[in-house]
Amino acid sequence: MPDTEKVTERIKKLRELIEYHSNAYYNLDSPEIEDDEYDALMRELRELEQKYPELRDSNSPTVRVGGAASAKFASVVHEVAMQSLRDVFEMEEVEQFCADFPGAEFVVEKKIDGLSVSLEYTDGVLTRGSTRGDGRVGEDITENLMTISSIPHRIKTEADFLEVRGEVYMPRKTFAVLNQSQEENGLKTFKNPRNAAAGSLRQKDASITAARGLDIFVFNVQQVSGIAFESHSQSLAYLRECGFPVSPEFTVASGYEEVAAAIEKIGTQRGVLAYDIDGAVIKVDNLKLRQSAGVTSKFPKWAVAFKYPPEQKETVLRDIEVTVGRTGVLTPTGVFDPVLLAGTSVSRASLHNQDYITQKDIRIGDTVVLRKAGEIIPEVVSVAAHGQGEPYLLPEVCPSCGEKVFHLEDEAALRCLNPDCPAQLLRNMIHFASRDAMDIEGMGPAVIEQLISNEKIKSPADIYGLAEADISSLERMGKKSAQNLIAAIERSKENDLYRLIYALGIRHIGESASRLLADRFGGMEALMNASSEEFASIEGFGEIMAESVRDYFSTEHAKELVQRLAGCGVNMTNLGGNGGNPASSGSLEGLTFVITGTLEGMTRDEAKALIIANGGKATGSVSKKTSYLLAGENPGSKLTKAEELGVKVLSLDELREMIGG
Ligand code: NAD
Repeated sequence: MPDTEKVTERIKKLRELIEYHSNAYYNLDSPEIEDDEYDALMRELRELEQKYPELRDSNSPTVRVGGAASAKFASVVHEVAMQSLRDVFEMEEVEQFCADFPGAEFVVEKKIDGLSVSLEYTDGVLTRGSTRGDGRVGEDITENLMTISSIPHRIKTEADFLEVRGEVYMPRKTFAVLNQSQEENGLKTFKNPRNAAAGSLRQKDASITAARGLDIFVFNVQQVSGIAFESHSQSLAYLRECGFPVSPEFTVASGYEEVAAAIEKIGTQRGVLAYDIDGAVIKVDNLKLRQSAGVTSKFPKWAVAFKYPPEQKETVLRDIEVTVGRTGVLTPTGVFDPVLLAGTSVSRASLHNQDYITQKDIRIGDTVVLRKAGEIIPEVVSVAAHGQGEPYLLPEVCPSCGEKVFHLEDEAALRCLNPDCPAQLLRNMIHFASRDAMDIEGMGPAVIEQLISNEKIKSPADIYGLAEADISSLERMGKKSAQNLIAAIERSKENDLYRLIYALGIRHIGESASRLLADRFGGMEALMNASSEEFASIEGFGEIMAESVRDYFSTEHAKELVQRLAGCGVNMTNLGGNGGNPASSGSLEGLTFVITGTLEGMTRDEAKALIIANGGKATGSVSKKTSYLLAGENPGSKLTKAEELGVKVLSLDELREMIGG
């Protein structure tokens, strides 16, 4: 094949591949490859297009902003385009960029790995918020953005109109907690915090966004009228005064040397920050200079994004530990000689399942290459050299109970199906008593572990037969704590039905699905006797969920457990209060709440979700328009403000009463 034909074909292939992965990343929030792999495809395409200008195309992904506005939301036309950034991978390219602006000052910022949004304020009031979309047309997600507590709903500004751009992100800790709960509930886990942030923000139901703990950093003034700035750093300082969380610890640097030092500093911090970053952004500070530099169709010419190389290290795999999860899945975990990766010491990484191990031919004793996917989750990239080990096979019997393990259809995982398996029992019990399930305060993993090993409990129903003496005899448990725990167990009998359904730990049934079931059937008996079709007819229920509930309640084990729990006095009826699907009640319609202080038994985010789910609005600052201030302990200045303005102050209990729970 002649050379140009080969190149044409490669370019076509690269464009197709990039389109495919852009769609997965921007529109489906579900990337299939790592960012550096995607960047490599883009770089290859850009280089080919540069070398063969006759093959350039105005529709190529190298000249368009990735992503599109989904029809799920109303469209927003961006008056000032929300552009992308030109990536650079070598310091020489940064040096060249700086040299293009002799004598200029630059601002170096962390490139937060999240989702780009625009926020518009008219006369200081947040009027609209949107996604980037394709850069020209984005999605209206105002309601969702309003649930992010660090976004001010009202700012003090002389500007008649102000549009700012920022990055919504999910802090690493929040991401870890979210994924753990998704996994425990048999729901889809997110690949990385960016992906989780995008998935959480682009929700039709804003109460889901509210509960996901998102945050924002604001990094640019897109448009302003009524005031003027000379430099970018001045505008960031102004945004901070207005109450926005701005681009964290940005540096103003004169010339390449200072820029390089700032980039290096961010590089050493990137593994230990509370949020993910995917590079450093270098921007010309002076706004007039920016204007004269101009833009291309895809990015500004006055900024570049420096991408750090992913850190990889070699180490030796010493062992493979196999644990059994709540649903019986066997998970192999690699145990390595510790290595420092992206700021933290890594000695363990999930090896997922047999297919993963076989594909990479991972054996105990191998020297392997490790990296942190998305700077956060350690993973084995490849085997650098085999040691003395044989090809590794997962055990044929459960490491906890010794029963044979099975491959279920369509699953890569191996499962232990023994309902009495102690490892599963422990995890089931921990889930049963956990805060979102039966909420038995004081019944944590350590207590449950001891109760199981002392053979005091073999089933969740046994919890309700515990006597004070069974508990006070445990390690680090005195009479008082035993009494408290017994009281908490007693209280949990009154829980609403959805908590119990969730506590049973049915595969694929998380908290919101449990609420739907409680609402639909009203009581446990009707639920247990329902058919798969009845489950499938519930809005928001897929076939897999319907089958899973049906399968669960068809086992003798489940029937017996429910019967025993009912016999102990555990509530089996939907009380419809905090238990019924709150989305169904619109009792707070038209009311605006501000939350302050520490609420008892509920985080502020949860309270916010509750308000929104019941039709109310939750805003950040008290004004004359505020209907109620929901105040917990140590309410601070918001309480004073509310009292000054005559805004009524509510307790959490009073709020619950308002929504009928
Ligand atoms: P980009 O993410 O590289 O750069 C532009 C974005 O940076 C802006 O939208 C902006 O919101 C954000 N940003 C964060 N902090 C900033 C700051 N301080 N100042 C300015 N901007 C800041 O560009 P892009 O075109 O949105 O996406 C390309 C990125 O997405 C690459 O990193 C690529 O690897 C990744 N991607 C990955 C896949 C995949 O399949 N893994 C697919 C598509 C894109």
